Amino acid sequence: MKRALITGITGQDGSYLAEFLLDKGYRVYGLRRRTSTPNYINIEPVLDKVEIIDGDLSDLSSLIRAMQISDPDEVYNLGAQSYVETSWPQPLLTSELTAIGVTNMLEAVRLIKPSARFYQASSSEMFGKVLETPQKETTPFYPRSPYGVAKVYGHWMTVNYRESFNLFACSGILFNHESPRRGFEFVTRKVTNAVARIKLGMQTELRMGNLDARRDWGFAGDYVEAMWLMLQQEKADDYVIATGETHSVRELLEVAFSYVGLDYRDYVVNDERFHRPAEVDLLLGNPEKAVKQLGWERKIGFEQLIQMMVDSDLRLNQALSDSHLKQQDYDLPNPLVAASWSEVV
Ligand code: NDP
Ligand code: GDP
Repeated sequence: MKRALITGITGQDGSYLAEFLLDKGYRVYGLRRRTSTPNYINIEPVLDKVEIIDGDLSDLSSLIRAMQISDPDEVYNLGAQSYVETSWPQPLLTSELTAIGVTNMLEAVRLIKPSARFYQASSSEMFGKVLETPQKETTPFYPRSPYGVAKVYGHWMTVNYRESFNLFACSGILFNHESPRRGFEFVTRKVTNAVARIKLGMQTELRMGNLDARRDWGFAGDYVEAMWLMLQQEKADDYVIATGETHSVRELLEVAFSYVGLDYRDYVVNDERFHRPAEVDLLLGNPEKAVKQLGWERKIGFEQLIQMMVDSDLRLNQALSDSHLKQQDYDLPNPLVAASWSEVV
C-alpha cells in the first residue's frame, strides 16, 4: 500500500486530494496546524480514514516528525498562506509559510526520506504582470504581490533541490481552481455565496473590487488528479495546469446571478477596499505539456463550475437559515455550522 503525506489537508485542494488518494488505495497522512477550534469541515467525510499529524510549516522539527511517522512514498506540499490580498498586510507571515515553509518541507524530505516524491503547489500568480500570453512553463515570472513573490521562491527551491540533491521534486504551476470548498474570501466563492444569500433574502448587495480582471478558472477536483499524475512519471518535471480559457470577474457575476434569474447590476456595488495595490489583470494558461505528457484533461467547464458552486451555496445557506444561524455565526467556524455544512457540501 502506497503512503502519502499531505500538508494543507484541511484546505480545498488537500481535502479533494485526500479523497482521490484514498480511492486509489493509499494510506493518507495529513499535516494539521493546531487551531483553538478544530477546522475539519472540508475533510469531515474522510476524517476516520486519514491519519492526522500535528505540525506547522514554520516548525522544521514538526515536519521531520511528520516525515518519520508517515514514512511517505509521496509528499504533497499544499499548505500555505494562500490568499493574495492577505499577503500585503501580512508579508512576513506569507514569506515564512509560503516561501520558507517550502524549504522546510524540502529539508524534511531530504533528511528523512530522500527517495520520496515531492509535489510543490506553485501558482499562476508567479506570472503576475504577464510577459507572454498564454502563459506556459517557460514564460518568465513577474509576481505582483508578496504571495506571488513567495511562490516564485518556493518554485525555484523545488527546482533547485531536484538539481542539487536529485530529489524527485515537481512544481505544479496551477491556475485558479475553485469548488464548493473554496474559501469564502476568494472571488468565485464570494460571488456564489452572495448570489445564494440574495436569492434567499438574506443579503441585499454585494461589494466588489475590479470587475475587469480575467482569470483561467478550473475545478479543484480535476486539478488534484494532475498533481498525482506528475508524481507517477519517470522523470520529475514542472507543468502548467489550466483550462486554456479566460473569463472576467464581470462574466463570473453574469453567469452566477443569471443562473438564479437575477441581474448582477441590480446588486453589485463598487468598493475601493476590494481593489488591490497591484493587480494581475489577465491570466490564461496553456496546459498543452500536461495534456500531452501526463494525459491530463479537465472535465468541468466554467459555467458548470459556477453553477455547481451556486447550487451548493443555496443548500448551505438554506440549511443555515433553517437552523436560524446568522452570517456572523459562520464567519467563524463553529461546530453547529460544521454539522450542517457537512450535510450540504
Ligand atoms: P487553502 O487556503 O484552502 O488551504 C491552505 C492549507 O494550508 C490549509 O489546510 C491551511 O490550514 C494550511 N496552512 C496554512 N498555514 C499553515 C501552517 N503554518 N502550517 C501548516 N499548514 C498551514 O488553499 P488551496 O487548497 O486552495 O490551495 C492549496 C495550495 O495550492 C496552496 O499552497 C495555494 O497557495 C496553492 N494554489 C492554489 C490555487 C487555487 O486556485 N486554489 C492556485 C495555485 C496555487 P488551515 O485549515 O488551518 O488554515
Ligand atoms: P487570486 O487570483 O488568487 O488573487 O484570486 P481571487 O479570487 O482572490 O481574485 C481574483 C480576481 O478577482 C483578482 O483580480 C481580484 O482583484 C478580483 N476581484 C474583484 N473583486 C474582488 C473581491 O471582492 N474579492 C476578491 N477576492 N477578488 C476580487
